[in-house]
Amino acid sequence: MYNSSAGSVSNTSFGGRAFRYEVVGLRQNGQPVGSAIRSSGSVFITVPYNRMNQIMQQIARMGGKIINIESLMSSAESNGQPTATPAAAPTTKKVKPGHEDVPVNLYRPNSPFVGKCISNQELVREGGEGTVRHLTFDISTGDLRYLEGQSIGIIPAGTDPKGKPHKLRLYSIASTRHGDHVDDKTVSLCVRRLEYKSPETGEQVFGVCSTYLCGLNPGDDVKITGPVGKEMLLPNDPEATIIMMATGTGIAPFRAYLWRMFKENNPEYKFKGLAWLFFGVAYTPNVLYKAELEELEQKYPDNFKLTCAISREQKNAQGGKMYIQHRIQENADKLWELVQKPNTHVYICGLKGMEGGIDEGMTAAAAKFNVNWADYQKQMKKEERWHVETY
Ligand SMILES: Cc1cc2nc3c(=O)[nH]c(=O)nc-3n(C[C@H](O)[C@H](O)[C@H](O)COP(=O)(O)OP(=O)(O)OC[C@H]3O[C@@H](n4cnc5c(N)ncnc54)[C@H](O)[C@@H]3O)c2cc1C
Repeated sequence: MYNSSAGSVSNTSFGGRAFRYEVVGLRQNGQPVGSAIRSSGSVFITVPYNRMNQIMQQIARMGGKIINIESLMSSAESNGQPTATPAAAPTTKKVKPGHEDVPVNLYRPNSPFVGKCISNQELVREGGEGTVRHLTFDISTGDLRYLEGQSIGIIPAGTDPKGKPHKLRLYSIASTRHGDHVDDKTVSLCVRRLEYKSPETGEQVFGVCSTYLCGLNPGDDVKITGPVGKEMLLPNDPEATIIMMATGTGIAPFRAYLWRMFKENNPEYKFKGLAWLFFGVAYTPNVLYKAELEELEQKYPDNFKLTCAISREQKNAQGGKMYIQHRIQENADKLWELVQKPNTHVYICGLKGMEGGIDEGMTAAAAKFNVNWADYQKQMKKEERWHVETY
């Protein structure tokens, strides 16, 4: 079954694009593969672009781990010329340790994947503000794979006022790598329809892509690019402490984390740490996925904590609106204790501008222990334990 050249480079329909995987730990019939090839035990496998997914799965089944991926690019292609000749000079792309298996840009804007909308559900309940939809797309007909914390691009249908195709917009993925149906065939998003009053004319304006997505019907095609993003990946450590701070649709990646931790039965990831979600919204009916989050809280009281800040309904200690930073200050002692553990990661996702408030909250928390928060945060960033994705 094992074949170090998993396909002919020259006869693919992708102009000869191929990759060389460096793999360790491959076993066939119980015997290690590759020790004869390199003293390190690495095996090199040439993989055509259109078989990447399949070969990755095969490697995983044989107990292998991909430690490096090298793009094999022909010289003509690197000059921007389409070509069908076999790959020439290999170019090595440096991959950060731990990020070897992270899929990125499997589909690019000039040839996006066309998925199908399966469902489109409203998440804001009666009395809430605005429109936020949970959308699920069928991706079973392609090679799109992704990890929790990544985003995909969406290219809205139609053209802009200049008659050009619309540009893509990014959306955080709200499902786990296995999808909402746990069959590896779907990807889900949590999308707020952008609407605002034009400062010039006072007219109501609706965002192009968010309105397109919120209006999709089951069966509609949707152009998808990506996946992209390595900032918000979850650590593999099942004992880690994961502190999540979300406003609005910033909940999307955290839904994916929580579903992976508590709703799926993943043999390689049995979460035993602490996940603490701080969630800021305007009104109670805007607490997205509220019922599911509360169910997790009840079922896993030792492993999951939910702390909401509902700005238009709750008051902070000074009598003002309750924002996330006030909840952080209320929990300063505990949070400070947690962030000092080397396996605690903090993730922030949602509205641009929310970081300011969080820094304020953390500054106050650290000050109680005579620590300068800015210095400590710098250190956490260096250790890749402070993750931010705001938009
Ligand atoms: C990494 C990443 C992840 C994201 N994840 C999500 C997600 O999970 N869910 C989600 O809903 N969105 C997410 N977004 C935002 C998303 O990409 C789009 O920006 C958003 O949906 C708006 O796009 P649109 O096409 O509807 O709006 P557009 O038609 O592109 O309009 C946006 C423009 O409208 C103008 N505008 C907006 N608000 C106002 C205002 N109040 N007053 C005046 N002008 C205004 C600004 O010029 C702005 O650039 C994410 C963005 C990034 C970068």
